[in-house]
Amino acid sequence: MENKKIYDLIIIGGGPAGMMMSITAAKDGASVLLLEKNTELGKKLKITGGGRCNITNKELDNKKFLENFGNSKKFLFSPFAKFSVKDTLTFFEKNNLPLTVEARNRVFPKSQKATDVFKTLEKIMRNNGVKILTNQQVIKIKKIDSSNGKNILDSVKTKSGETFFGKNFAIATGGVAHSETGSTGDGFKFLERLGHTIKKPNPNIVPLKTDSEILHKISGTSWSFCKIRFIQNKKTEISKKGKILFTHFGLSAPLILNSSYEVRNLLKNGVVEASIDLFPDTEEPELDRKLWRLFEKNQTKKLKNVLPELLQKKLAEAILEYFPKELSNKQINEVSKEERKKIVKKMKNLTMQIIDTLGLNKAVIADGGLILNEVNFSNMSSKLYPNLYVLGDVLNINRPSGGFSLQLCWTTGYVAGKDITIKKHETKI
Ligand SMILES: Cc1cc2nc3c(=O)[nH]c(=O)nc-3n(C[C@H](O)[C@H](O)[C@H](O)COP(=O)(O)OP(=O)(O)OC[C@H]3O[C@@H](n4cnc5c(N)ncnc54)[C@H](O)[C@@H]3O)c2cc1C
Repeated sequence: MENKKIYDLIIIGGGPAGMMMSITAAKDGASVLLLEKNTELGKKLKITGGGRCNITNKELDNKKFLENFGNSKKFLFSPFAKFSVKDTLTFFEKNNLPLTVEARNRVFPKSQKATDVFKTLEKIMRNNGVKILTNQQVIKIKKIDSSNGKNILDSVKTKSGETFFGKNFAIATGGVAHSETGSTGDGFKFLERLGHTIKKPNPNIVPLKTDSEILHKISGTSWSFCKIRFIQNKKTEISKKGKILFTHFGLSAPLILNSSYEVRNLLKNGVVEASIDLFPDTEEPELDRKLWRLFEKNQTKKLKNVLPELLQKKLAEAILEYFPKELSNKQINEVSKEERKKIVKKMKNLTMQIIDTLGLNKAVIADGGLILNEVNFSNMSSKLYPNLYVLGDVLNINRPSGGFSLQLCWTTGYVAGKDITIKKHETKI
């Protein structure tokens, strides 16, 4: 009879979390098989950070770093004590990927290419003998009862009809955001079938759709510093400052993406209005004086040619669209004080209704996933199956943009991979 190969570890999903786990376990001598349903690994990784890959966020104090993870932070202290941001920086730099730090502590490869991050990981995987099989979609994970009554997993079946046997398994199939990259929620189905609890995923870190046709027209225009307030029932529920991007559907940029989770929750309760203040650090009377001074210098020019000196051209045009058409063609010395004050008010209070988010296919992450009290965070194993590991976007962990998601992959992947080594040394496998 042919001897069937039994791998020390079978990883389902070749995203950043699965790749990191494979490297960690294989470096310490484990036999590792990684199964990926796409024709290539890391499809999502290659589009991260607009193709530049925001690898992590350089906040070296674990406590401060984990403040970004809301209620999940208490679960994460243990894995981050084993593999922190500092370890990520060392890992990539030691593997010949120079890094650079940009605004808001965001770390990128110096080459500005996400594909270089991917190539670095793939090279280490191959150098350490990870067996990579692409075009292999896992469709079933088989469990058996072991002699001591504990549930354990023993094999996976793929769509092509093959069965692979292992001593340990990892679900690193990602979430459901940008499903074209392969993250179609398969892991959630496997986990549910195995008796785990999944919180329904929803889009997060996602642009917002608005009803403002005027602002849709200035698609591609960004404004470097504004305040946005999200208002429900006349009450300001969220107020944030930062850069904003106007798009053909609504609003984007980190300020918006990082408000989307709270806005989505507000939308469940009813209508949400947004109000944008383009000059948050200038009070209305002061802004009026500024505009008056500008008008004084340009008495004979048309308003439409003067306002762009305060705003950008497209944004100035958009502001003027809120007024009767004649106004923009008026000569400055014909613009009344009331009209000037109304323009100031508009620049301090551009309002629109938020209709929805742009949905899962435009989201950076989805909130939802495997609930955290079913995970043993000391080694990233399932509390129901000691030989199953759960990593990365599979976990129900919310976080903002800025490199926090990938750091979660590096940390959970490393900690899970290290546990395979520990098991080997204890000769449990
Ligand atoms: C547009 C965009 C930009 C982003 N930019 C950043 C950024 O700059 N910085 C940052 O920190 N985060 C960023 N993120 C988030 C980050 O990409 C994810 O958090 C991260 O990719 C999750 O990694 P993962 O390994 O858990 O899952 P994924 O990257 O989703 O990988 C899962 C893999 O599993 C495979 N798979 C799924 N089901 C099966 C199956 N049944 N059988 C076999 N294989 C399967 C999939 O094909 C996929 O390759 C971005 C996300 C998006 C969408």
